Amino acid sequence: MTFSGALTLTDLNDFITPSQACIKPVEQLDEPEQQADVGGAATQIHIDAAGGYYEVTEGQAKEKPSKKLQKAQISLNDCLACSGCITSAESVLITLQSHAEVFSFLASNPPPTSPSHKIPILSISPQTLASLAASISASSDSPIPLSTILRRVKAFSAQIGFAQTFDTTFSRHLSLLEHTREFLERRAVGPEAKLPMLASACPGWVCYAEKTHPEMLPFISRTKSPQQVMGALIKNWMAQKCGRSPDQIYHVTVMPCYDKKLEASRQDFYNEAYSTRDVDCVITTGELDLMMRERGWDLSIPVGDERLSHAATLSGIELPELLTHPGTSSGSYLHTLITTLSNSIPNPSLSTRAIRTSDYEEYVLTNADTGEVVFKGAKCYGFRNLQNVVRKVGKEAGVQVGRGAAAGRMAGGMGPRARRKPAGGAQVDEDVKRYDYVEVMACPGGCVNGGGQLRPLATKAGAANSMPPATDEEGFQRNWDNTGVRLESDGIEAGWKWANKDWVKRVEESYWHDLPTPPASPPALSRFNLPETLIEKSASLDPADKVARQILRELCLPTSDLLSWYSIMDEEAERRRTELFRTQYHAVESEVIGLAVKW
Ligand code: SF4
Repeated sequence: MTFSGALTLTDLNDFITPSQACIKPVEQLDEPEQQADVGGAATQIHIDAAGGYYEVTEGQAKEKPSKKLQKAQISLNDCLACSGCITSAESVLITLQSHAEVFSFLASNPPPTSPSHKIPILSISPQTLASLAASISASSDSPIPLSTILRRVKAFSAQIGFAQTFDTTFSRHLSLLEHTREFLERRAVGPEAKLPMLASACPGWVCYAEKTHPEMLPFISRTKSPQQVMGALIKNWMAQKCGRSPDQIYHVTVMPCYDKKLEASRQDFYNEAYSTRDVDCVITTGELDLMMRERGWDLSIPVGDERLSHAATLSGIELPELLTHPGTSSGSYLHTLITTLSNSIPNPSLSTRAIRTSDYEEYVLTNADTGEVVFKGAKCYGFRNLQNVVRKVGKEAGVQVGRGAAAGRMAGGMGPRARRKPAGGAQVDEDVKRYDYVEVMACPGGCVNGGGQLRPLATKAGAANSMPPATDEEGFQRNWDNTGVRLESDGIEAGWKWANKDWVKRVEESYWHDLPTPPASPPALSRFNLPETLIEKSASLDPADKVARQILRELCLPTSDLLSWYSIMDEEAERRRTELFRTQYHAVESEVIGLAVKW
């Protein structure tokens, strides 16, 4: 099986459910043949020299097999049904979604004058920009702003043939708007509401839940991730604007992890009518870095006037660029909800506490006038913390968590929590208040530490000294030239092989460094029991919200005017909105109990 040059095994101690076997349920496409007499001759499977499979009846000469068998095919979507590969060895999809595939497409794309030309568009995540910025800063004295990195990546992508490069902070803005709306809709249901709502932007976590915790699926937000919202924007809104059909655009995203490849490959994001995906190809930060190195592009060299901030345009269409969403570098989902709800009460008070690590933090929003706990949420990163949260949420919601006996061994219990008195308010038992929301991310440290991000440096001791290849930290031999890991011989400071806390901190700092646009917080409407003042606020929309409203209007075609993203549209327009901005999940049937499998 071919692995990407950039695919490496990292953070193995955080994996919990790698399966030992690749299992696909047998599909019975035709009627079984009439069974011969019970106790008749047994059959065996024979494989010939060419790799053909034959059913051989006992006693029959192997040279004259009776029936040739069909080869089993494992597709990318089958991989979504496996608990083991999600965070460790997504090798099957590498040949379908890789930097080599992007180069190959660009080389074979007919010229723009040809009717079969596809417009190549690149969308890049802010975590990718932060990773690239951190790697450049490692060899320079001053931190490099994300806007500068974006300018340089745009210059590179234009050189290799992309028509335009967007960052995904605007699509994240739409995700946050829709996500906030979904939360408010759920909460408006009352006691029967499926809360806590669990974040949906991390496919690592979502695929894990589909496989091992289907009982959690009703709690996971239906809002599409920024990657898939960007896909919907490009293949629908932008295609329309350019006078093209969705299949006449080739959309590549650059993401911090391999799991995003799995996400883009889901059947829900496939347009049957045009036989195209919202995102055609996903490459990781490491793969983009490889592409630049393969083409001799040095990201540390300035291009033109990098201080100018330009909104990205395509055929005159502009999208806001590098929007800041204060909170976390993994998307600020929790903090956006807190901001919206804080705006709904006169005297909000927010308390936070870390539960063992900074990767698991609780946030309690209180009305300081009354002492009422208005909202309780948590940020939960890394599979170990995630196990605890799944167990806690399952217990609170009264659902049985996990499958089989293995589920009982999932995690240690939650320790007792202290009662605290909110500032200026009455005594409130926060333990009684359940979580309303959890921002769940599979990677420890969140998306800045995704498995596809650039890593600190490795030394190439073996190759440099004509000695056997160096081994990695698990003791496996590695050809470092082929791993996508930066090497000492690349002329950069040596010493690290894998991400460590210092490196992740550096990427985190790069992420927040000098973002150019002011924060934007989604407004809210009274339908969800929020004050009328917020309706007025929503009428004075900031530029990003104005574009968001325009897109909603042009894609959903409501029959009445839209005040904001939260306006309720007619039935048909709401159906279109759901199609464009929300998704669904599918429980995966399997005999494999991930938690029972030892690696
Ligand atoms: Fe990908 Fe990790 Fe972010 Fe999840 S937390 S979306 S797996 S980088």
